[in-house]
Amino acid sequence: MKFQLIHIGIKEKRLKGFRYKRLINSGIFRGNDTRQKLIDCQGPFHGWTNASAKNWVYARVREQKEGRKVHIVCDCCDTRCMSSSCEHTLMDKNTENRRNPNCYGQELVDLIIDLAKQN
Ligand SMILES: [Zn+2]
Repeated sequence: MKFQLIHIGIKEKRLKGFRYKRLINSGIFRGNDTRQKLIDCQGPFHGWTNASAKNWVYARVREQKEGRKVHIVCDCCDTRCMSSSCEHTLMDKNTENRRNPNCYGQELVDLIIDLAKQN
């Protein structure tokens, strides 16, 4: 099974056919800051005690099993694209291009795909 779960930055264009799921609505992070996880969402997933955050993750796992295309969108990066030839993915080329080196976006994508593979 091919999973289509892609992490993008807040100013990056959405790919066609992809749902848009923002990490600030996941219940995993403090306020609107996707750089800081809540204390009950740290460490291995099975140890998380935050029920609404876990439910958000399970909802994303379900979507992957249903074959949906989904973007996971953080607020701490403008784009996750590394190469300068990817500037076209920015909605506005004149925008600044923040990129948080410690972003949790990809880690959460990997977690969701792992869980989707497991069961
Ligand atoms: Zn980020």
